[in-house]
Amino acid sequence: MSSQWIFLGGSFVRKEDAVVSVFDHGFLYGDGVFEGIRVYEGNVFKLDEHLERLYQSAQSIMLDIPYGKEEMQQIIVDTVKKNELTSAYIRVVISRGPGNLGLDPSSCSTPQIIVIAESLALFPKELYQRGLRIGSVASRRNRPDVLSPQVKSLNYLNNILVKLEANQAGVDEALMLNDQGYVTEGSADNIFIVKNGKIMTPPVYLGALEGITRNAIIDLAKKEGYTVEETPFTRHDVYVADEVFLTGTAVEVIAVVEADGRKINDGKPGEITDHLLDSFRKVVASDGVQCYDTKSQRAIV
Ligand code: PMP
Repeated sequence: MSSQWIFLGGSFVRKEDAVVSVFDHGFLYGDGVFEGIRVYEGNVFKLDEHLERLYQSAQSIMLDIPYGKEEMQQIIVDTVKKNELTSAYIRVVISRGPGNLGLDPSSCSTPQIIVIAESLALFPKELYQRGLRIGSVASRRNRPDVLSPQVKSLNYLNNILVKLEANQAGVDEALMLNDQGYVTEGSADNIFIVKNGKIMTPPVYLGALEGITRNAIIDLAKKEGYTVEETPFTRHDVYVADEVFLTGTAVEVIAVVEADGRKINDGKPGEITDHLLDSFRKVVASDGVQCYDTKSQRAIV
């Protein structure tokens, strides 16, 4: 098997050589931003939207990415091509770079740019047929006025803690509430409920990342004539929903069949959930930036 190539510090290096300094503030303090992106059939799904979010996260923490969006786009496409991938997960990391041990980032002169692309196939069908069990956890979503959930920063401890709590509770994913008890999201995915045919998801200001998949599902569902509302809801609304599902780059659209020990409806993935996953998978290979050919909307060869 040929080696995996990582874009690091301006060039491609082999995985074994892809190392960063222990003085990198991304490592020392979680000072940096990242994105998780997916490639379907050589198409980098919603790459513009991911880049927009990456640059907004960087802007928010005053981190200057030393490449423009177009250059960054090319680097990402080149990383996919260099690794000869067609179905892949891409991780883009921009850290503050190496500096001294003080947390003041002014000693960090050069941000570190990392792009990793790894082969990723669709998750097993059985997972989607079974659905997930979620549970609410003690740790709350960090408040937007403390550290905005819109900043996809390298400081993911809030999410890691709730994932640990979910693991300890023996459920597949955490149901994260905000400090007022409203439902926000999972540890790394957005949440939707369906009641009487209406699809609802929490407004991001309550404390959820504005997921690219979330937005794609809202658009798709609206196009298909569903009513979609961004509206606050509580755990009770989740328990009595007709359907519950999560969205995210990794899981795409996946049903939740149990929440805090309550079976959701008949305990099986719902029809609208299944339908939205189908619709989603129909567009993922064409909505974005193609790495290899000219079939798609904007080709980069
Ligand atoms: N919320 C959080 C906290 C996440 O980390 C992610 C994954 N990026 C999501 C939601 C889903 O976002 P997306 O659909 O952009 O992957």
